[in-house]
Amino acid sequence: MQLLDGKAISSQIKSEIKAEVEQWMAAGGKKPHLAAILVGQDGASETYVASKIRSCEEIGFTSTLLRFDANTTEATLLEAVESLNNDPDVDGFIVQLPLPAHISENKVMEAVNPAKDVDGFHPVNVGRMCKGLPAYISATPFGILEMLIRAGIETSGKHCVVIGRSQIVGLPMSILMQRNAYPGNCTVTITHSKTQNLKEICQSADILIVALGRPEFVTAEYVKEGAVVVDVGITRVADATKKSGFSIRGDVNFNDVAPKSSYITPVPGGVGLMTICGLLTNTLKAAKREIYS
Ligand code: NAD
Repeated sequence: MQLLDGKAISSQIKSEIKAEVEQWMAAGGKKPHLAAILVGQDGASETYVASKIRSCEEIGFTSTLLRFDANTTEATLLEAVESLNNDPDVDGFIVQLPLPAHISENKVMEAVNPAKDVDGFHPVNVGRMCKGLPAYISATPFGILEMLIRAGIETSGKHCVVIGRSQIVGLPMSILMQRNAYPGNCTVTITHSKTQNLKEICQSADILIVALGRPEFVTAEYVKEGAVVVDVGITRVADATKKSGFSIRGDVNFNDVAPKSSYITPVPGGVGLMTICGLLTNTLKAAKREIYS
């Protein structure tokens, strides 16, 4: 078993981005600027946004955080999106999800200028990705692809099973893994809460990508000997032994599954760190106008 070590890979990618930013700026390019909108005070969202902002500082980006109360209206949020769309200094921005129930996430996502949509959630970017056109690929799938590349994992002709069909992970992941490209060329099965015989389907996976949000759901009996196992899940579980009062669990029972797998991602220290790299890479592309001129 080999660990797909998100900590090591993400730190390598960050130093590569940092060097690219220095080169870009030395050649007269503008300092990349990522803005984030955070609504409410959800603990997990606070942590994710803080770590995105910290990463921007580490690699030499400008970052801006715009905070709004949980009871902010949809109209106010749409105005904020519009002002970021029109701000020439902001290259890309994200609206941290989830949003409070009274705000339509789809409406907000669609208001973002696709050229600044570094999360890759806008229908234009999703559609372009499906057609194989240059697009911002959403950060988590992007980070997973990068892990497969850096570990030199063969994907062509393999059976890839994705658990979960969310707009931000499962769905784009399944599209990317079947593309005629590397990583890709897999035969993909996408599964979800209504799937029957999930265990049997997973047992035939050469590559198993797990994103359902149920801690330690996948045990050894779901996994074929020698499979590549990618655990996207992040759930906070109450833990009195921790100062924070919780610990982070993935969707895979690591200790059970690791001995059977050829490669496996840990949680924490796996896909989560790679997701931030996806966002930073997209922001640099935005600053360089690589996708949209
Ligand atoms: P989601 O919560 O939007 O949806 C869950 C999906 O899992 C749905 O498609 C549902 O049909 C499926 N599902 C639920 N129960 C199932 C079951 N018993 N069998 C099969 N499928 C089932 O999904 P999401 O937003 O992709 O989040 C999934 C997990 O990934 C969460 O733990 C989330 O915190 C985590 N996440 C991590 C990152 C990261 O950077 N590592 C990024 C995004 C999400």
